[in-house]
Amino acid sequence: MMKDLSHQTRPVNLILLGPPGAGKGTQAKILQDRFGLVQLSTGDMLRGAVAAGTAAGKAAKDVMDSGGLVSDDIVLAILRDRMAEPDCAAGVIFDGFPRTIAQAEALDALLADTDAQLDAVIELEVDDSALVQRILNRAEQARAAGQPVRADDNAETLGQRLAAYHAQTAPLIDYYAARGTLTKIPGMGDMDEIADALATIVKPLTTA
Ligand code: AMP
Repeated sequence: MMKDLSHQTRPVNLILLGPPGAGKGTQAKILQDRFGLVQLSTGDMLRGAVAAGTAAGKAAKDVMDSGGLVSDDIVLAILRDRMAEPDCAAGVIFDGFPRTIAQAEALDALLADTDAQLDAVIELEVDDSALVQRILNRAEQARAAGQPVRADDNAETLGQRLAAYHAQTAPLIDYYAARGTLTKIPGMGDMDEIADALATIVKPLTTA
């Protein structure tokens, strides 16, 4: 996909919201390539911390394997460190963050500290019934490519992850809708069509 940086004049910060398996990671990578924004996946950061055996990783591992949410303190510490790196000044896509109202409030404060703004929150709408198959496909593709399969990418743990999403993360939909920053797009269709729908929202923001 071609980069589309020709008219970019300002950094854009956006949140991709949606349940596990909605395609947030896939679409964040496409947006990263297309608009030069930085994908910030707290799931990737936490898996990195687990693999590196850091104190945060050790504290997070069992919670992640069981499909629950890692504590706000751990997630926010990891995210704060990452956001302090200079590449984030180009604009970021939050993927899998925030997942609680407390995280959303902390993000508000973090952005205010650096005079940055949140430009959009985009919810990828996907039926729960489609998610199990997507997660199982993702595990199968990783296996076939000889890559490690995520410990939480199985039908049993997905049930817990979905329960956590509905109980703790879905309230963010109303939180951002009340501020007028939320846009919903269907996340069920073809990957390229979804990417184009996202680009239609993001492009005007980069040139505003
Ligand atoms: P993900 O890669 O976004 O599906 O995240 C995988 C797992 O990492 C989740 O099921 C949680 O256990 C943990 N995790 C990732 N991001 C967060 C977050 N923002 N808050 C709490 N836990 C998180």
